[in-house]
Amino acid sequence: MQDENFKPIKEWQQTPTGYYIVPDDQLDIKHSKTDENNNVTIARCTCPDCSGNRRAEHKNEPCVRLDMSTGLGKCYNCGFKFIISSKVTKYRRSQPVKKYNWKLPTTTHLTPLDAVAIDFLIKRGIQPQTASKAGVRSAKYSIRGVEYYCLAFTYREGDRVVNIQYRSTDKHFAMESECEIIPWNVDACIGQESIIITEGMMDALALMEIGYDNVVSVPNGADTDLHTFDRFRYSHFDSLKTIYLAGDMDEPGEQLRQKLAEYFGEARCRIVEWRIEVPISDEEGQTKELVAKDANEMLKSHGADAVLQCINHARLCPITGVETVGQYYEKTLQIWEHGIEPGKKVGWGEFDDHIQFELGRSVIIVGEPNTGKSTLADDLILNLALLHGWKAALYSPEMFPPERHISRLATTIAGRKFRKEIVSTERGVDYRRTSIPRSMAERILGWLCENIFFVTEEKGRTIYKLLHRAEQLQRRYGVNMLLLDPFNYIQLPDGAKSDTMKIGDVLAEIEMFAHRTGMLVIVVVHPAKLKKDEQIESLYNASGSAEFRNRADYGIVLVNDNNAHRTPESDSSLHVLKVIIDKVRDDEMGYKGTCHLSFDASNYRHGPVQTKHIHGELNQFIVKPVNSQCWLDRTPQSEIDWPEEITTPEDDLPF
Ligand SMILES: [Zn+2]
Repeated sequence: MQDENFKPIKEWQQTPTGYYIVPDDQLDIKHSKTDENNNVTIARCTCPDCSGNRRAEHKNEPCVRLDMSTGLGKCYNCGFKFIISSKVTKYRRSQPVKKYNWKLPTTTHLTPLDAVAIDFLIKRGIQPQTASKAGVRSAKYSIRGVEYYCLAFTYREGDRVVNIQYRSTDKHFAMESECEIIPWNVDACIGQESIIITEGMMDALALMEIGYDNVVSVPNGADTDLHTFDRFRYSHFDSLKTIYLAGDMDEPGEQLRQKLAEYFGEARCRIVEWRIEVPISDEEGQTKELVAKDANEMLKSHGADAVLQCINHARLCPITGVETVGQYYEKTLQIWEHGIEPGKKVGWGEFDDHIQFELGRSVIIVGEPNTGKSTLADDLILNLALLHGWKAALYSPEMFPPERHISRLATTIAGRKFRKEIVSTERGVDYRRTSIPRSMAERILGWLCENIFFVTEEKGRTIYKLLHRAEQLQRRYGVNMLLLDPFNYIQLPDGAKSDTMKIGDVLAEIEMFAHRTGMLVIVVVHPAKLKKDEQIESLYNASGSAEFRNRADYGIVLVNDNNAHRTPESDSSLHVLKVIIDKVRDDEMGYKGTCHLSFDASNYRHGPVQTKHIHGELNQFIVKPVNSQCWLDRTPQSEIDWPEEITTPEDDLPF
């Protein structure tokens, strides 16, 4: 039997959860207030229990706060808690259908606060009356075989004690077994517009000490399972306009705040921090910061006023996953003022008209076998790095071993083979100006050391690992380009989905990564098997999924075009690539179309190809080596002007 209840048995029936059921017509409602935003009406009335016995001047005092939507009421004079009869059915529906066989603890061993408890409380700035009113008692209780003098915090709901936490003065804790765990002081929500949730009972008592009666503590500290709130969500918390999250100032406390904000909805939550700026009395304009671990420590160290200020200055809880225009106000004004910042060019003539690169985007390159997709990607990256100061992380497991890959990059930068000695011809390629002096070799390697990084190959190369590494390189070295070459080296996630869907998931991951980190991610993809005589013409030819085209911000398709008509003065040793710009998501960064690039196998450089339009005949291409100057001697950021497209004048027409 419990005898710790506030009330003797009344004439009213009770809900199984301990609220007295009071007929609606027995209430004497004095006034009510409806909140316009969430339509909650809080009525004030006399107490069906205590008002009749109070002194004449208090008999008509509206000491009850009553939530008209849930029907729960609480007397803030005597603590009487009830539900109006018309709302009982609705309330019962909010309770779980499943019956739990929780026990109720016995309370006969609880005593009023003893000297040990009173001393403990006073040392923490809590008056014994405050604790007593909140249902704190004393008890001798055995914790793991040792009997302690304990504070007993009773967990009450309606007229019942549901659970008890025992706390020895030297911080041993125990709870009743087989009893339901509920938020401590949960009925403090009844009829309130706001509630303060603390991480422990001592903090809740500290707030009560300075006058707050709307305080609830999570039952188990920062590790609390929030399912303990489920049964009260509708009846106690739904009507609240504001929920103050007043946990501790440490990592677990921060996590608890986040958990609670998500549980109750961030929009009505405010974050209380135990930290305030106060003026220094002697020095004008100077302030100092008062910080504490939690509410109780704030009260003890800095006083009631400091605690009040922390609550009053609680900031709005940020809502995760949403953004406001306000967050982009300044950046958008910049666009109004200066327009959109132009994308970056690589210096390849007509190619530059079609594509200008922007950070935070994804580029998908697909091409026929042997078109040199990887070489083009490397060349693109080197140009963006040299001309615009971007740095790159390369995941290129096919370019093995790394030193050979690096020597290829060095060759591109030098404009000639990265070799000490002159080699006149090698595998039929004419290395026109060869020989790199050691000083130049070291300069080039030095530049590569600072600007190019590698993400290494290993087992289990999931997209998450690769992106994580790239992000670490970004944080340490300021890397802002990532090359994934080729896509099929990335391990697809496990699971029952089709490969096509998994590829879509990986691409979505890449896209979000690019947006979040502001990195330009370049992905090289092999084409799907082509039918005989079929030519690849769009990103839809990429192997595995149409998502490559859907997800790409820029789509580049490479096709060999060595049979293109060349003007007689053209260099026959250079290759000609047809480049189809299949997609440019943002109009400001280019447009779809086709252009041609030359490729010099002696230095892996690409260059513009000029088109000679001759009326009535096939276009001819002027294919010339651009230059073989070392790029480190080029002025960075210099605009590269290519001559206008050459058109044969009308009077030169051959008829
Ligand atoms: Zn009362």
